[in-house]
Parts: sequence; structure tokens; C-alpha cells
Amino acid sequence: MNTLPDTGLTTGLANEDELTRRSYYLATTPAMEAFGPLAGSEAVDVCVVGGGLAGLSTAIELRVKGYSVVLLEGQRLGWGASGRNGGQAIVGHSSDDAIIAQFSKEDARRAWDVTVEGMHLMRERIARHNIDCDYIPGWMYLAVNARKAKGLRESFDFTRSTFGFDQWSWIDHADIGQYIASPRFHSGVYDTLSGHLHPLKFTLGLARVARDAGVRIHECSRAISLQRGAAPVVKTDKGEVRCKFVVLAGNCYLGELVPELNSRIMPVGTYVVATNPLDPALAESLIKNRAAVCDNNFVLDYFRVSPDHRVVFGGRVSYSTMTPVNLDASMHERIITVFPQLAGKVRVEYSWGGFVDITMNRAPDFGRLTDNIYYLQGFSGHGLALTGIAGKIAAEAIAGQAERFDLYTRIKHLPFPGGKLLRTPALVAGMLWYRLRDML
Ligand SMILES: Cc1cc2nc3c(=O)[nH]c(=O)nc-3n(C[C@H](O)[C@H](O)[C@H](O)COP(=O)(O)OP(=O)(O)OC[C@H]3O[C@@H](n4cnc5c(N)ncnc54)[C@H](O)[C@@H]3O)c2cc1C
Repeated sequence: MNTLPDTGLTTGLANEDELTRRSYYLATTPAMEAFGPLAGSEAVDVCVVGGGLAGLSTAIELRVKGYSVVLLEGQRLGWGASGRNGGQAIVGHSSDDAIIAQFSKEDARRAWDVTVEGMHLMRERIARHNIDCDYIPGWMYLAVNARKAKGLRESFDFTRSTFGFDQWSWIDHADIGQYIASPRFHSGVYDTLSGHLHPLKFTLGLARVARDAGVRIHECSRAISLQRGAAPVVKTDKGEVRCKFVVLAGNCYLGELVPELNSRIMPVGTYVVATNPLDPALAESLIKNRAAVCDNNFVLDYFRVSPDHRVVFGGRVSYSTMTPVNLDASMHERIITVFPQLAGKVRVEYSWGGFVDITMNRAPDFGRLTDNIYYLQGFSGHGLALTGIAGKIAAEAIAGQAERFDLYTRIKHLPFPGGKLLRTPALVAGMLWYRLRDML
């Protein structure tokens, strides 16, 4: 059983401890050694801020290229979204539409191909480093009605013809029952490249890879100031890192360290529950191909069955950053809506959540603050696999091969309207509109 950090640090986001404490992942992950806080002054080539998947991947790839690296994590490794997510490792971006709208077809395809490589990179790392993280291939993207199916079919056809992606197959309405024992879905896509895993075990597995590669890791080491210039200095309360490059990979927790990044993303709370273990035959009857499932609503349900026969079900969002009060009951209701045959047989045993860093257009936001300060953010709830390749292309860019990184820096992003105080109400209004559309 893993233990929670007692760092005495706050993130500025509501209920963060509560969101972590009741996690199924935390309860089922063997404890990892602690890495001591930064003390005194260290000099390296690169200082990575953030010990989630984006930071760890960047650090690993930089070590492969021969750079010396310090990684600073304000809490414990995997404490953020990387250790708490729905476990669905999916090709593509949160919104490929935003990328398609801004790019030529060729460049949109190049960005898509980066994500395909990201899926292979994730699988290769699991295999090469023997990371025990319950990886299961297969993912289904399902529509809840004929109208939603039409849009999904269009994006399926586009993805096959324009991106040349052939690992998606279409599931007709007449065949949907062969894939999932649920009356909720109309038709959809079956993706054999994407899949699902235990995200905390995966993140800590990558942390071991980083440690063994020689990354100098410090936990409970929140970066509190960043001095820019030819030789940046990152300071914590007890030490400092002098370096040539900085990579910021802090999700929505960087806060006032870099205010100009803060306004480009919005922290949105999202929640996951795990049920009691079901009778194995019943659990296996729910999703016939053992794939993870996601619907194509704007406020979506995403779920899968874990190897110990629990339904791991994600959904609901909170724009106020406060955890919904009736979370367990409402998630239970959603599970029964999808699988009515579980009524009376299923209860919520774990529930937890975290914050996703969404951008206005939900495309990822990668870039540079200055020539030598890089950032990776805006995964918009779709970062489990994308963070891995994002770290790789950031390391490539630092090493002088910036072509793929700069493809992403060309994506235009707008700050959230309304400034710090009004961006939440503005977002809520926008999201209510989309939620209304989900219901039609
Ligand atoms: C509940 C939930 C469900 C999700 N489900 C899915 C899913 O099924 N599939 C999917 O693809 N994506 C999903 N996501 C999104 C995905 O988890 C994220 O996109 C991804 O993990 C982001 O990784 P990261 O490394 O950028 O951020 P994080 O994992 O949040 O890591 C950032 C780290 O930086 C540290 N940090 C921040 N500021 C500082 C500082 N100043 N000094 C030192 N350290 C700092 C934080 O403590 C944190 O540990 C989900 C997210 C959540 C919250």
C-alpha cells in the first residue's frame, strides 16, 4: 500500500488531499522509495519541474541523449493526474478537430502520427522495462444515439482516409451487442492500438526507469521561483538548481511560478470510481473484448474492467474545482445506466479525482517561454499516452531537432476570457451549452 505524502504544501486547488486519498490505484500500488528533497545547490544541464508522466518522460529521453538532469516534484512522484487518471491510453489528441481546423491536412496528419508513435513508445517502454501495470490492449469509442453516431462515423472516415490510420474498425448498430452488454450504445469505433492500464503503477514504473538512467530526482521539492536568462536558476525553499534548460511539466499546479502559462489552461475536476470486485464471469460478460470504453459525449463517461474484476468508471466534471457532494451515488447511477444488469450487485468502493489542464480549444499547449525554458501542458484530459511522446519531442528540441516540437508550438491558443476571476463562470456557461447538446 502506498502512503500519501505529508509535504505540508498546498496546490491552491480545492480538496486535493481528499481527491487522492480514496484512490483504488493508491491502494493497489506497492510503495516506492522516497527521493529526498533538494538541499543546497546543484548544477545540471536540464531542470525538469514536475514528476508526472510528462516530466518523467522528458527526463528519461534527455538522459538517453546524454544530458544531466534534475527532476523536481513538489509532492510525490505520480501524485498528480498521472497517478489518478482513468487509465485509458488513447491515440490522438483531446481535440483533433482544433488541430485539423488550424493545420493543412499534411501537418494534421504529422501531428496524428506523433500520437501513433506515442502509443508505440508507451507499449515499448512497458515491454522493455518490464513495467507491471496491468496493460490491456483495445479501446472503443461509442456513440449513445444515431445523431452522435453520425458525427463519429464522419470522424472515423476522415481518420482512415486522411490520416491513413487502419487500426480503427467500425461497429455497426446491429453488431454492438457482440462487443458490449449494454443498452446504452448505438454504434462506434473499435481501436486495437489504444488500450488501458493502471496509471500509478505505470508512472512509478517510469520513475524507476528515470532513476536507473541517472535522473537526480527530488520529491517534496516545489519550485517556488524561476530566474530566467542564459543560465536559469530554479529555487525551492531549501535549494536551487542552476541549469542550461528548464522544462516545465506541472499540469495545472504551476500556479504563480509562471503566470503567463496559467491563463492558457483551466483546471477542471474530473472523477473516477472503482466498484467492488464482481463475480469474474459477470465482469467478463460486460465488455467482450476487454477494451476500455469511452462515449463521444462532450461530458463523457469512460470505463473499463480491471484485472481484479472491478468496474473502473470515470465521468462527471467540476468547473468550480469543488468535488461534487453526491459523487459516489451519482457515479453508481451512471454505472447502472450503462449496465442495468449490475443493479443490486455493485457498489462504489473507491472514488477519487483530479484536475485536467484544459485549453480553450482542447488541443495541447507545448512551447517555449524563452529559448531555453520549455513547457508541456494543456493535455486536456487526454495525456496518458501523449505525455510520453511529448517528453520525447521536447528532448529532441533541446538537442537541436525541433521540427516535431515546433509543429505543436504552431497551434494557436487563446487565453480563457474573463481573467483569473471570471474564467470559471465563462467556462461553466460554455460547458452547459455543450452538456445541453449531449442531451439532444
Ligand atoms: C481523474 C482523471 C482522469 C483522467 N483520465 C484520463 C484517461 O483515461 N486517459 C488519458 O489519456 N488522460 C486522462 N487524464 C489526463 C492525464 O492524466 C493527464 O493528461 C496526464 O497525466 C498529465 O500528466 P502531467 O505529467 O502533465 O501532469 P501531472 O501528472 O499532474 O504531473 C504534474 C506534476 O507536477 C508537479 N508540480 C507542479 N508544479 C510544481 C512545482 N512548482 N514544483 C515542483 N513540482 C510541481 C505536481 O505536483 C505534479 O505531480 C485524466 C486526468 C484525471 C485527473
